[in-house]
Amino acid sequence: MAVERTLSIIKPDATARNVTGKINAFFEDGGLRIVAQKRLLLTKEHAQKFYDVHAQRAFYDELCEYMTSGPVVVQVLEGENAVLRNREIMGATNPANAAEGTVRKALGLNVQENSVHGSDSPENAAKEIAFFFSGIEIPG
Ligand code: ADP
Ligand code: MG
Repeated sequence: MAVERTLSIIKPDATARNVTGKINAFFEDGGLRIVAQKRLLLTKEHAQKFYDVHAQRAFYDELCEYMTSGPVVVQVLEGENAVLRNREIMGATNPANAAEGTVRKALGLNVQENSVHGSDSPENAAKEIAFFFSGIEIPG
């Protein structure tokens, strides 16, 4: 299994409740290494561009509003099969459907305020990492 990287975002509902350390423990205990991390306040333009695959969805405007409502922590996670592994650690999109032991089950509030984002494929991970980080900002 190859070592892979994925893009993670700790979302505004989680920074508001001061649980970024708790979430990082899920990643580290789950076998992923945080090889880059920074705290940002996204602009509306950033959020719209980042989520442009969802532009036609009914929840798009609300999602962009929410993602700019407070600070986020953007991260690069590294490990074996990191994209899929992180999706397992995160749990299902709707916390009500998330498995026991996942971030969203433990900390997610609802289908929108679900505490974390994770890339859904290696291709999207590469794009999403490049959206937030330059090479020198990923020290490993
Ligand atoms: P995931 O984050 O699990 O990959 P999606 O890519 O489908 O999920 O959706 C992106 C984000 O949009 C979700 O994490 C959530 O914050 C929000 N979202 C998804 N579905 C809904 C919905 N039905 N209503 C409101 N917000 C939603
Ligand atoms: Mg997604």
